[in-house]
Amino acid sequence: MFIKFKLLLAITLLLCVISQAQVFSNDTLEVQRNVKGEINFARFKFSTPRKIRDGNEFLKSLLKMKNIDSLSLIKESIDKLGITHQKYQQIYKGVKVENSEYLIHGKDGVVETVNGDFHKIDISSVVPKISEKDALLKSLVYVGAKKYKWENLNSEEFLKKITGNNNATYYPKGELVISKNYKNGSKNLELSWRFIISSFIPKNEQIIYVNAFSGAIINDVSLINDNNVPLVGESKYSGIVSITGDSFSTGYRLRETRSNVNVETLNAANQGDFVNSNTNWTSSNWSNFSQDQTAIDAHWGAEKVLDFWSTVFNRNSINGNGLSAISFVHDYIGDNAYWDGTLNCMNYGDGAYMFRPLVSLDVCAHEFGHGICQYTANLAYVADESGALNEGFSDIWAACVEHWAAPNKQTWLIGEEITIGSPYYLRSLINPKSSLASNGGDSGNKDHLIPEQIDQVFVWRKTEQISWRSF
Ligand SMILES: [Zn+2]
Repeated sequence: MFIKFKLLLAITLLLCVISQAQVFSNDTLEVQRNVKGEINFARFKFSTPRKIRDGNEFLKSLLKMKNIDSLSLIKESIDKLGITHQKYQQIYKGVKVENSEYLIHGKDGVVETVNGDFHKIDISSVVPKISEKDALLKSLVYVGAKKYKWENLNSEEFLKKITGNNNATYYPKGELVISKNYKNGSKNLELSWRFIISSFIPKNEQIIYVNAFSGAIINDVSLINDNNVPLVGESKYSGIVSITGDSFSTGYRLRETRSNVNVETLNAANQGDFVNSNTNWTSSNWSNFSQDQTAIDAHWGAEKVLDFWSTVFNRNSINGNGLSAISFVHDYIGDNAYWDGTLNCMNYGDGAYMFRPLVSLDVCAHEFGHGICQYTANLAYVADESGALNEGFSDIWAACVEHWAAPNKQTWLIGEEITIGSPYYLRSLINPKSSLASNGGDSGNKDHLIPEQIDQVFVWRKTEQISWRSF
């Protein structure tokens, strides 16, 4: 974690106190809609709390769903801050809608925010006119490979072995879904057959969507990043940078293979790709209201961190064994960034009260550092001396990577590009006590905090300083 959760909790409590002092005319504090008027994000403060366990019913009324629409709960978790997250899959007339998921978040089981994609669909029949078999034939004509993986005995045997399932096969199984038509440019939602087609010659794996009424191919999505393309991006904190992405049916996206390691930068808000129509990712396209430009920083940062580790330490990835480097920007966490040790991915918030988007190079290197720590010393993440060492190593590596890749930045400061308030950095490796991170403790801003909060921040600061002493 970039900031200890206790500090975050203290800040959250403080902000709650401040926000309660304000008067809101109704329960909805903020709503963001897409061009079609569909709600992508909303924030609430209910006078009568709405329970997350009734999330399905809540979303039904919020999104004005009809009887033919439904949501299926696919994941529920409670994070270290005590915030519950529910994730739903959109279903239309019993058919899954591809890439349409909706999330509810809130503390103590009470709804606070929602975000995601819910599409209003109007398809009269969900009974396909094209059979699964015919749709597969059309997919294979479209892919046109010389040899498919299910035709290769070794591939089939290997699949059975790694899955432990004697019936496993690469032979494509069709799934009926509703997905967007990217081929005719309309992006209309259409009933389609979805297949994963794995070819042996040439080596490829892609998802093919076939319109279930007309048989037309409406989208193809490559699952293998072997077509690296150099891109130029205007980053938020590091100027114009050279990065690598790949091309696919609808443009260019932030996916690449770097020394046999998959590197992907995705949008946490919809779990999807950032897509540009050409190789020049300019700020005029990307410095938008949603701050999508941050994806360029995160992608460049991941590249530099991987390059540092492979060049300086001959370590080819986070786990030293080719683990993919996946970064999510626009994480709901706001004023923080964190390494997810379960899903093995980096997550960057957009900032809120203390920070701008947390995608500076030192933050990227710090978060990667937690992954490397997990796969080496496996020190604790938040507790005691072990946790302090973990944080300390992450800061040390952040300084090393920053100096190696961008020597003109301020090597010894952590977070100097993202911190909003004085002293305009989160931590200093030269003068730890000067840091913003220290100010909530026994010096500086304690007047702004209630005693328990000072305690929490102080305990956290003491723990954190062990890492500096060791450094
Ligand atoms: Zn950390």
